[in-house]
Amino acid sequence: MSEARIVTPGEKMGKTEEYLGGENTFVSNGEIYAEVTGTVETDGRKIQVKPSVSTPPVPRLNDVVVGKVFRIRNALALVRLSYVEGNERREIPSQEVAALHISNLSQDYVDEMSDVVREGDIVKARVTNPQSGNIDLTTAEPGLGVVSARCQRDSTRLRNEDGKLVCPECGREESRKVSEDYR
Ligand SMILES: [Zn+2]
Repeated sequence: MSEARIVTPGEKMGKTEEYLGGENTFVSNGEIYAEVTGTVETDGRKIQVKPSVSTPPVPRLNDVVVGKVFRIRNALALVRLSYVEGNERREIPSQEVAALHISNLSQDYVDEMSDVVREGDIVKARVTNPQSGNIDLTTAEPGLGVVSARCQRDSTRLRNEDGKLVCPECGREESRKVSEDYR
């Protein structure tokens, strides 16, 4: 038996001509990428990621974290934290939820949440209050913001074209606070 291969979000796993992307993966330009940290599993042509569960690090003040926006409520985007940058191989416990307030989303004034972030987006953010149960984040820095997003119409992963997010499937252009690190 070969040793289990660990991947982190955004890591290439294989090509679509060779594999079918399964759970916790996304496809971009014919390449299959991991959407979460975990172990690579293959079943015939299907390749997927089994999310890893390990001793979790606790986010600290000023840590840069990556997580998924799972709900938008009034002036808050709620983010399920995935990992602390620089410590990608150790996931944060899935119950750790952080909040991004509308005033901390962008360097610019934000009128509508939907102009800068949507449910399902993967965001990179800095911790401004690390207290468990009340973790606050900011994305108001050039390197921070949305690092992966899907088309609201057909769920295709949006492509970053000079800071504009465009759907390669239907051509729709969507607005986000895009991180310089959008992959
Ligand atoms: Zn689309």
